[in-house]
Amino acid sequence: MEDRVGELINGDYGDLHRSVLQFLISVKSIEFEELYVVFVKLVIGCLLDSSDEQTSDQDSHLRDLLAQSRPEVPGLNTECLVKTIVLINRQLSALDFEIVETLAQDDEKNINVSFVNTKSSASVKLSTGYTEKEIEIINQLIDRMFEDPIDDEDNLTYSLKHSDALNLAKQNTNTITDSQNFINGLEASGWIDTVKGKYTLSARALAELKSYIIGKFDVLSAENLRGTVSLCHGCNEIITMGYRCPTSSCYIRFHEHCRDLFVKSHRIEQCPGNDCDASLDNMTSFY
Ligand SMILES: [Zn+2]
Ligand SMILES: [Zn+2]
Repeated sequence: MEDRVGELINGDYGDLHRSVLQFLISVKSIEFEELYVVFVKLVIGCLLDSSDEQTSDQDSHLRDLLAQSRPEVPGLNTECLVKTIVLINRQLSALDFEIVETLAQDDEKNINVSFVNTKSSASVKLSTGYTEKEIEIINQLIDRMFEDPIDDEDNLTYSLKHSDALNLAKQNTNTITDSQNFINGLEASGWIDTVKGKYTLSARALAELKSYIIGKFDVLSAENLRGTVSLCHGCNEIITMGYRCPTSSCYIRFHEHCRDLFVKSHRIEQCPGNDCDASLDNMTSFY
């Protein structure tokens, strides 16, 4: 078995690398030790897939291993995982993605392995393997959310009604069922969430697309009151659900817990916006 393991690890980019990458894309970030356990199972899966038709003794041994919580495979060690990551990164570099290993902040013994995009432009493309048409739909959904977040009733909102999202998807798909399936797929894969009956970008999508969104749309600030992307005044992240200053021309927004922290640490209730005397108590929620 060691020979076959060696071939997998030292061979070209293949199914093993693809499945490790897929896994990392789905979890985004994981401790190295945990990833190693998954890695061993993926190796076993690849060995089983590449077996001959007849089930051999080795195959049943592999299936036994697969059932264990922390299987060990002869010839496989953590260095093999490091090697695999190096090869995946070589493939990813052209796409502005990278798998990075970082020390955990709270415990320096733990290493975190994360999948990150080094630039944002290609993000949607790789994360999913969507077709060009589908990426076009995703881009349009994002445009609709961030281009003009004030709705017909003058409310600030970064969410889309289900019917609006569906109509938008319909322009790029053949049937209404295709559109519905596509939108459902986006939700199932964690790109969008339903909040109070409307679609909004998930926390993961916001993290992944942050630089893309900030690069494409203007950020609302004291210097740019025409900006359409809101940042939380507490944590400085893009905010799509939270509280806005009641003064319509004011740019101050807060996540609920960020507002509470701000009030506690600054001991003021007054809006921190330039020349704004509204009370943070009177902020209105948006979603
Ligand atoms: Zn915040
Ligand atoms: Zn204000």
